[in-house]
Amino acid sequence: MNRLAQELAELIRQEGPISISRYMALCLGHPSHGYYMKQDPFGACGDFTTAPEISQIFGELIGLWAASVWQAMDAPASVRLIEIGPGRGTLMQDMLRAARALPGFGAALSVHLVETSPVLRERQRETLAASGVAAHWHERIDHALEGPAIVVANEFLDALPLDQFVRTQDGWRERLVGLDGEGRLAFGLSGESDGSLAIVAPPGSVLEQPAAALEAVAAVARHVAAEGGAGLFIDYGPARSGFGDTLQALKRHAFVDVLAEPGDADLTVHVDFARMAQAGLATGAAAQGPVTQRDFLLALGLQQRLEALSLRATPAQAETLASGAERLIETGPTAMGDLFKVLAVADPKLPMLPGFDLHRLPEQG
Ligand code: SAH
Repeated sequence: MNRLAQELAELIRQEGPISISRYMALCLGHPSHGYYMKQDPFGACGDFTTAPEISQIFGELIGLWAASVWQAMDAPASVRLIEIGPGRGTLMQDMLRAARALPGFGAALSVHLVETSPVLRERQRETLAASGVAAHWHERIDHALEGPAIVVANEFLDALPLDQFVRTQDGWRERLVGLDGEGRLAFGLSGESDGSLAIVAPPGSVLEQPAAALEAVAAVARHVAAEGGAGLFIDYGPARSGFGDTLQALKRHAFVDVLAEPGDADLTVHVDFARMAQAGLATGAAAQGPVTQRDFLLALGLQQRLEALSLRATPAQAETLASGAERLIETGPTAMGDLFKVLAVADPKLPMLPGFDLHRLPEQG
């Protein structure tokens, strides 16, 4: 057992089994042993790779998207460009390079980053300093939201803790992390069923309650509905709600046991986009999408951008650009283009935003 596993076992001995959300929050955010607190998990040598790390085209297209939103907002003289969970800062760097194509936008924007990890803040500082950008960091989303805002979050919602409930013969019971006979971390169920969940499902069904993600989307939606702007959430997960346990642990690009290496493996969940859209709508904002990442990026001009970049590239660079772009839009149930969805929450006074106007998800059976 690693250090965090020992600490969790001690906590469970003292207080009893803990919720899945508390387990996730400690694995990811424990001040000294939390996954994001102690390392930079990205890249080929890390545990996973994200879209901005695969291709510069991803961030460039989102930068152009942000510029269009600014124009649709009637080009305010000052606007916050906010990124939540910016990783290495690559997405923001690429966005800003593309956004400068519209000089008025470049002059109006100020850059704000919401990041809890000191290690990643440092990485972001290095990345953005190299491109000469002054950025402001915030610990929490509500601290960053002020005035007209364009908010972007890629692979952020999947890192937020959720709770799980399992349907049994006598109702919903909460899934918990406790200890087995040998003192190792093990899943179990609460003794009492939760009477507040009035949802019917076959025994064995798992219901996830992503309270933190719903609140994050609602906070952005509430703000842009009141102050102007839009928020863009990109992540993996279904367009429609369903039952199922989506908690997964990833280490060096492979799935591992969720309880085996707390704090040493990345822990994520799939994002329920239908519920995220509802959370946005409930605040009075408009919701656009979800659409697939493939449809979104193609509608924003991925092919044209690839062609333009390839003209100036060496054959080897053109090859890398083409394979990166292809990976972003690849189809298939576990491929990025289909698995990843894009949702916007927006000031209802704004028109349909780029990427959402033409392409809609086909009806699913
Ligand atoms: N958007 C980046 C990184 C995704 S990983 C990319 O696409 O490459 C998730 C990011 O969210 C990391 O930067 C992590 O430190 C940050 N994060 C996780 N939980 C957070 C929280 N509660 N508040 C703010 N940032 C958080």
